[in-house]
Amino acid sequence: MSYVLAKSQDADIHSAGECGGAVTSILKYLLDEGLVDGVLALSPQDDVYDAMPVFITDSQDLMKTAGSYHCAPTMIGDLVQKYFFDKKVAFTVKPCDMRAVEELIIRHKINEDNIYMIGLNCGGTVSPVSGREMIDLFYEANPDDVVSEEIDKGQFIIELADGSEDACGNWGAEDGWTFIEINDEKGQELIDGAKKAGILETKSPADPAIEGRKKVEGIMIKMAKKNQDAMYPTVSEMDDWSRCISCYACRDVCPICWCFENCELNKSFFKDEQNIPPSPIAFQGVRLSHMSFSCVDCGQCDDVCPMDIPVSLIFDKLQKKYFNRTGYVAGVSDGVKPPLYSPEKTEL
Ligand SMILES: Cc1cc2nc3c(=O)[nH]c(=O)nc-3n(C[C@H](O)[C@H](O)[C@H](O)COP(=O)(O)OP(=O)(O)OC[C@H]3O[C@@H](n4cnc5c(N)ncnc54)[C@H](O)[C@@H]3O)c2cc1C
Repeated sequence: MSYVLAKSQDADIHSAGECGGAVTSILKYLLDEGLVDGVLALSPQDDVYDAMPVFITDSQDLMKTAGSYHCAPTMIGDLVQKYFFDKKVAFTVKPCDMRAVEELIIRHKINEDNIYMIGLNCGGTVSPVSGREMIDLFYEANPDDVVSEEIDKGQFIIELADGSEDACGNWGAEDGWTFIEINDEKGQELIDGAKKAGILETKSPADPAIEGRKKVEGIMIKMAKKNQDAMYPTVSEMDDWSRCISCYACRDVCPICWCFENCELNKSFFKDEQNIPPSPIAFQGVRLSHMSFSCVDCGQCDDVCPMDIPVSLIFDKLQKKYFNRTGYVAGVSDGVKPPLYSPEKTEL
């Protein structure tokens, strides 16, 4: 792996970008050079808590997608597998998106040769509802008064309609530049190509910046682990599942649930002719039998559950047991085939 600091040579992209506008510039380069049919990115909607995925084929339209949307836990992998299997497409990924894409590549649901995947460092998203609650609780501000939000120098900063700012958090990187980790040859070619096309400028990051980032990453992983260890004992499969109303929301939002036509949960022995949904234990049990080895911990099932069941935490707790037996972690285990792996490119 190698590191560069990069910034856009296009003044508009540079000012619209979250850091140095390097990601938007690389996406522009891919479109302008005809290396992809389109770009899948997010576009802000009515307020700062809302951003929608858009498919862009004209690089002029990329301007409206620049920036980071921290309250948009959209799963890009799910969209790529459903709508873009045969298209050459570039898109940005949070780590959970990336895990979903990797898992879907192994399951033959995404064609690796067709995609350019640009990773974004991400300590997590908040759902729009939690985002509003957080601003009310920790910033003591009216969520409707927030006109913009950003993470800068490790601080989550909100700007209010009256022009005032508020912030918390304490880590980040150099102003006006994007810190890029180049992970493979394809990534290196992209950076070199964008530089050659005159859209990107790069320089080497100082050693303390590289060390600082590694430190922050280590702290984030430690904090996440501590959090998980504290939360596992608070969940109980049977107690939590007993609240389930079998509404199918967790299945529908899941990026890894891909048996579109043949989902077990639609079969007549689960959903009879009166369309009565399966019992909560059957519903969750069937999902678990599929998800215990494939869950990528994106947490979207938690976000949509109307009964506030910590679905992903339960899956994650059981997945740890699975890992101890098989050594497989969905979307992370390089070269290890998942359980029930099939080389056939059809649904099981
Ligand atoms: C939710 C989130 C949390 C982040 N947390 C951190 C952090 O803690 N520390 C850190 O160093 N960096 C973090 N980043 C990355 C950082 O904010 C910048 O995205 C990155 O440095 C690239 O900057 P840029 O100016 O080159 O990107 P830009 O040129 O602004 O391009 C950003 C691209 O990302 C897309 N995008 C925006 N939001 C999302 C989203 N939610 N999901 C998928 N794609 C999206 C945009 O549509 C655009 O195409 C986070 C990003 C996101 C989206």
